[in-house]
Amino acid sequence: MEDATVCYACGARSEATDQRCSCGEPLWYDLDPQVDDWPDGDEQSMWRFAEFLPVSDPSDLAAAAGGTPLVRTSRLDDYGGCRLSVKHEGANPTGSFKDRGSAVAVTAARERGVEWVGTVSHGNMAMSMAAHAAGCGLECLTLVPDDISDARVRAIGQFGPTLRRVDGDYGRLYYDTVERSSPETVSFTNSDSPLRTAGQKTTALEICEAFAPDVPDAIALPVSSGGHASATWKGLRELRDAGLIDAMPRLFWVQAAVCDPIAQAYREGASTVSRVESAETVAYSIGNNDPPSGTRALTAARETDGAVVSVTEDEILDATAALSTKAGLCVEPSSAVPLAGVRKLAREGDVAPTDDVVCVATGTGFKELDYHETSADVATIELDDLDRVLSELP
Ligand SMILES: *Cc1c(COP(=O)(O)O)cnc(C)c1O
Ligand SMILES: [Zn+2]
Repeated sequence: MEDATVCYACGARSEATDQRCSCGEPLWYDLDPQVDDWPDGDEQSMWRFAEFLPVSDPSDLAAAAGGTPLVRTSRLDDYGGCRLSVKHEGANPTGSFKDRGSAVAVTAARERGVEWVGTVSHGNMAMSMAAHAAGCGLECLTLVPDDISDARVRAIGQFGPTLRRVDGDYGRLYYDTVERSSPETVSFTNSDSPLRTAGQKTTALEICEAFAPDVPDAIALPVSSGGHASATWKGLRELRDAGLIDAMPRLFWVQAAVCDPIAQAYREGASTVSRVESAETVAYSIGNNDPPSGTRALTAARETDGAVVSVTEDEILDATAALSTKAGLCVEPSSAVPLAGVRKLAREGDVAPTDDVVCVATGTGFKELDYHETSADVATIELDDLDRVLSELP
């Protein structure tokens, strides 16, 4: 791989295996896809866009990532205040968009002769990296926080990684592992590493292809580290540079109000994102209070005439239920956050009823159903009463 990485902020180029620029900001791949039309052929996975990726030869599970459905959810239009579609990332092999980045990471690891991959995560990313490492026979080191629940340990551990609980400042671990990441020891793919963002940009490529020759007016995402958000921006920039789209969708990033460093910086008109005080949120996958790609995500929202908004815990749970009951989609609360944000933007007049907006439902809700309200009074009926029950339905 002779590709280089480049810094979006200062333009400096780095080695393909570097993750952060000497200016401090995160790097991404500098690829110049030689395409002049949407891909043909019937490849349905994210590898349909192999021309846009730094690797091209996935095997087994990696070959199955992406290619998720874009679901038109017209029954949610009133709720969201616009014409809504949902990109259903729960359809990925381990139930979240993280598989897109993991698929590229393990494919690159194989190509570079790496034996060990690693990640710092206690949620979807840990599961995804462990699964993809298992799928192609790599060793995987998964560093989780000391206070992780047993259920989480089992969910990650089922794929057979080497798991270690880490006692100490978990936020610092991101930087400590990036510094030590090497093809000879452990190749770490954290939340916003260049291989991960390269894979995760395919969410945006697939969305835009589904709308071609038009583009959606806006794409809304839940944001934590800012990795997926940055990737989405990068994907759109590449499509624009290749001439495949002629307008940029607005990018709306949505956070939980109790942990919203990027939204705070946006509201304050700040040019960089800093660590904030935060509390636990039901949107447990987006609880990063010191996002390593926060400033890059903030820049993306500003440059696309987008916005960064935050929503309350009640609004998140309400949107989670709306996705279930009005669209038939089971998502984890983090993945309902964009819908709550779009609803708010529409109410404030920032989104028009005629706008086509895509909410990215980043992960399935089937892993932890605790947050899904079911009707508490499920009546029991006598079998002999069946006819009466049918005749009395409302
Ligand atoms: C990881 C994750 C996010 C946040 O993505 P970042 O790239 O860290 O901003 C959102 N939703 C789900 C379900 C996730 O697993
Ligand atoms: Zn730089």
